[in-house]
Amino acid sequence: MPGFREHITGSTIVGVTYGAAAWYAGGLPPLTCTLAAGLCAASGMMPDLDSDSGRPLQESIGFVAAVIPVMLLPRMHHLSLSLEATIIIGGAIYLAIRFGLAWLLNTYSVHRGMFHSVPAAAVAGLAVFLAFDSFDPMRRYFVAGAAVLGYLTHLVLDEIWAVRLGLFGPKVKKSFGTAMKFLGGEAWANIVTYLLLVALGACAAYDAHKTEHNAVVRQQMEQASRVYQTQPAPWQYRR
Ligand SMILES: [Zn+2]
Repeated sequence: MPGFREHITGSTIVGVTYGAAAWYAGGLPPLTCTLAAGLCAASGMMPDLDSDSGRPLQESIGFVAAVIPVMLLPRMHHLSLSLEATIIIGGAIYLAIRFGLAWLLNTYSVHRGMFHSVPAAAVAGLAVFLAFDSFDPMRRYFVAGAAVLGYLTHLVLDEIWAVRLGLFGPKVKKSFGTAMKFLGGEAWANIVTYLLLVALGACAAYDAHKTEHNAVVRQQMEQASRVYQTQPAPWQYRR
């Protein structure tokens, strides 16, 4: 099974390629591309959060706990919360993820359970889409896509490691097929994962519609202001 180092290397290479391609070919802003590359690298560690392998696990959860409150800042700003409230909520989210999520994972998750699945990758992407409340819909899709890509890179690497080339052709380990899957062995875990997928999907669809609508309105307002600026003021006609 690939270790922490193999996973972070793989997802970093994929993330940097994804970011560079979007910057070079897609013309996306370099900062957005850098964020996406970093997110892809980080989400390559996520599926192994369910293995209790000590330090990498703690570091990964600490990292997620620190980044999510920062991503949620614009949302809190929209709610016009005071600085005090923002700091308190940010701190509470950090503690909830750092200790609550760690407790949940230690208590309920099985290694190579539903955390290691294709729907879990979609859940990660939807969560990032909802957290990253950018005004530009394209940037939101792009950044959420980076999370899914990093997650899938992890699953693919796990599957590749399960196949070893032996003297008589490829040998398949017992773990083959346990990473890239749609259903796990436990019914309740499948139900929870798919319920989460549907709930987050509905929120994301609503949110995407809102962002697209706002983007159109903003574009129209920009166009209108440009037309207004190029028209000479009425008193200039009368000279
Ligand atoms: Zn894994």
